[in-house]
Amino acid sequence: MFNLKALVRPNILALKPYSSARDEFKGSEGIFLDANENPYGILNRYPDSYQTELKERLSEYKNIPTKNIFIGNGSDEIIDLIFRVFCNPEVDKALTFTPTFGMYQVASDINNIELIKSPLNDNFQVNTENLKPYLKDDTLKLIFICSPNNPTGNCFNESDIEIILNEFKGVVIIDEAYIDFSDKESWSKMLSDYPNLIVTQTFSKAWALASARVGIAYTGEEIVQLLNKVKMPYSISKLNQQAAIAALDNQSGFKKSIAIILKEKEQLILKLNQLNLVKKIHPSDANFLLVEFDNADKIYQDLVSQKIITRNRHKLVNNCIRITVGTPDENKKLINGLLSISKS
Ligand SMILES: *Cc1c(COP(=O)(O)O)cnc(C)c1O
Repeated sequence: MFNLKALVRPNILALKPYSSARDEFKGSEGIFLDANENPYGILNRYPDSYQTELKERLSEYKNIPTKNIFIGNGSDEIIDLIFRVFCNPEVDKALTFTPTFGMYQVASDINNIELIKSPLNDNFQVNTENLKPYLKDDTLKLIFICSPNNPTGNCFNESDIEIILNEFKGVVIIDEAYIDFSDKESWSKMLSDYPNLIVTQTFSKAWALASARVGIAYTGEEIVQLLNKVKMPYSISKLNQQAAIAALDNQSGFKKSIAIILKEKEQLILKLNQLNLVKKIHPSDANFLLVEFDNADKIYQDLVSQKIITRNRHKLVNNCIRITVGTPDENKKLINGLLSISKS
């Protein structure tokens, strides 16, 4: 049985959160003399701490109740909050599958939590057999699953994720930052089956709002309430909330840009495959490709000297560079840049 309270840090369970002026009076009409704001200006009022309008819009779009939605200042903030809610510093542990997104390590280091790294197999899939010894450990509180995975680009097998969700007694976080580029279903559809599941998504990638810093967690109501307790009261500015709402209003723009990116991705795969510098392009469910070269360090530097910036992942995956799919013009320049390197 999943026992949420047993997983939460005792000090967080006992925490009495800050009660803001806007918590104590919730109406939008009235004379507001309660928060020491300047009555003049356009951004003069504190924003809605619970992002009511944004959550209502997301709720309609995703068909997930607002009580199951938490908004963070980017999903990076949500990752940190999850550590702070569940992990006692120096005592508890988290686990992830490597190579993966670097923020899990940084957030665990900041919170003084050991992060166990379970290596992905040669197809970049999870090896659930390797997990067995850890699943009995009461101090293992969190398992982070990044699917589609950054930097490898692939989704993990559904059956492996199901095994983890069923057998692990702690909290499972599925980071779906790239899900909108994939034809796979989001795990957010499964919240009612798995009370230990947190699905994170973000406005930073497919929604083209990296600058606005808006991340989303879909999870059980009690976990939403715990995250609400720990977050800073006004973490999502009014500007950020409005930007996310405007993005949700522009569904056609969203779909069009994803269609262009996916078409460009296919083109890029074709063009890269024609280059003899390229050893392998790993299968991708995301808006980037993990590409293996003979000598990734040299290719990366040669591209930088042409002012083409890619992500050198050689230290994570031997001789691999992660390349984001750009505009048609940017992608053409990348291919020309690689061609000129192969000729030099
Ligand atoms: C880019 C990315 C994020 C996004 O983080 P934000 O803080 O929402 O910008 C989250 N997870 C992964 C795996 C990413 O690659």
